[in-house]
Amino acid sequence: MTWLDLPADTPFGLANLPYGVFVRDDDRPRVGVRIGDSVLDLAAALDDPTFARSSLNEFLAQGRARWTEVRSRVRELLTDARHRDAVTPLLVPLAEVRLLLPVEIGDYVDFYASEQHASNVGRMFRPGAEPLTPNWKHLPIGYHGRSGTVVASGTPIVRPSGQRKAPADPAPTFGPSRRLDIEAEVGFVVGTGSRLGEPVALKDFPEHVFGVCLVNDWSARDLQAWEYVPLGPFLGKSFATSVSPWIVPLDALEEARVAPPARDPEPLPYLRDGDEHWGLDLTLEVRLNGHVVARPPAATLYWTAAQQLAHMTVNGASLRPGDLYASGTVSGPEREQFGSLLELSWAGETPIELPDGGTRTFLEDGDEVTITATAPGPDGTRIGFGEVTGRVDPAR
Ligand code: CA
Repeated sequence: MTWLDLPADTPFGLANLPYGVFVRDDDRPRVGVRIGDSVLDLAAALDDPTFARSSLNEFLAQGRARWTEVRSRVRELLTDARHRDAVTPLLVPLAEVRLLLPVEIGDYVDFYASEQHASNVGRMFRPGAEPLTPNWKHLPIGYHGRSGTVVASGTPIVRPSGQRKAPADPAPTFGPSRRLDIEAEVGFVVGTGSRLGEPVALKDFPEHVFGVCLVNDWSARDLQAWEYVPLGPFLGKSFATSVSPWIVPLDALEEARVAPPARDPEPLPYLRDGDEHWGLDLTLEVRLNGHVVARPPAATLYWTAAQQLAHMTVNGASLRPGDLYASGTVSGPEREQFGSLLELSWAGETPIELPDGGTRTFLEDGDEVTITATAPGPDGTRIGFGEVTGRVDPAR
């Protein structure tokens, strides 16, 4: 029990304790832990300059034993009433802070782990062909994204311009994307790095991955459809990727671990997860201008983050603290579980109806998209992930 006065159903209770970077007034950015609707100033609470930083990277690099030690110290500070007088002044109301990008992003990789999403996109982008490519069930498909354009939640998204060409068009044209979209994803933040040339085994996932956030992989479908063959996503994705401000540590997600779907065919040995069940039972919620348009279930993802990590390093590619990789669009089997407008509107054929009478196929200027998520915590509690939000600004 905490000595703080928290609602019993808060998704930011003692079982969660996610990390972020906050700034108050003209102060310098600092690392904090969220409890309820406050941020604990960690540098002051632990008297540790590791946390008087504008990113979590130094802490991430310290490794799992240290992550466990800090988490347990924070719990002690928030539960033992003897610390109340000293800690209370170090709790800053969320309303008084600005939350920044919590991690200086190293490399960024985006995967494609949802069978439903990959099948839906296959049907739309390659009509008449098999929805899944022949490699899809043998390896977690991914691409390297642009880490320099990973932005904090709340950063406006300028509509990208580029080459667009529908299949029936005789030639490409240039201009603002007409098919600007979102992808609701789960992000994984690497803490401990690895050595070049040495693969990271699937079972070592919790030694290397620190925690989980939410990702919106903004996507310009018209740019993407014209450019993606033969080398995959490029300018249709690289203009912006938004992440949520709170990194929920893996330690907070023990109750959320679930067995992933059965794999058929059985993957090669380095991708077999046996009892290392790193499926995660996050339920995402996607809101467009405040209206819920989808609730994608991450538990349905075919490939887990542990398999993705093993695959990403199996060639000897090394990890660095602050690397980020994302699950790929989370889409469940039902229409209301699709994690992109491309799927929700079926490539624009069936517009989404909004409660105010409006409809959408793809995003219009001024539209705001917010993705939130919760997962099961211990004793019937919920673990919250906060939100990743962004509004579309007109093309420049
Ligand atoms: Ca994506």
